[in-house]
Amino acid sequence: MIKHLYLASVSILLFVSCNSHKEEEKHSHHHANYVTQLKNIEKKDVGNGEFVYQMEGKDLDFQSLSFAITETNPGGGPPLHTHTSEEAHIVMDGNITYVIGDSIFNVNGPFVTKVPAGVPHTFINSGDTVINLIAVFPKDNFGKYNPVGKNPLIEKK
Ligand SMILES: [Zn+2]
Repeated sequence: MIKHLYLASVSILLFVSCNSHKEEEKHSHHHANYVTQLKNIEKKDVGNGEFVYQMEGKDLDFQSLSFAITETNPGGGPPLHTHTSEEAHIVMDGNITYVIGDSIFNVNGPFVTKVPAGVPHTFINSGDTVINLIAVFPKDNFGKYNPVGKNPLIEKK
């Protein structure tokens, strides 16, 4: 009981001292130098049931990284495409069917996929929930995204 009271009073003291030093303002200033909120990035409708937050390195002040975070609806996916750099996909949850080079395979999250530079690739969301796929490139320009054809996994209506 005494221990609980002690902890409660320490918490209150910490809370009061943070507020009195305007700790919050100071923190939000530093935060702005490091963090980009997705709500401040345009979410592009790229077609085929897919939306993408495209984060080119120069826009976020990265020197050698860029990112794309998708909202891929069931059955959706990008065109077949290549990059001049390798690419990593990070998926924490969901089911994806891939085409990478000559391989077609299905995988459940959580997983990381390695896409080698120059190899044509695409995927679709084979599950029934929206998937957030995080794509990471070791270049500031998405490794020059280059569409090379239709997504062979998407049937045209
Ligand atoms: Zn790609």
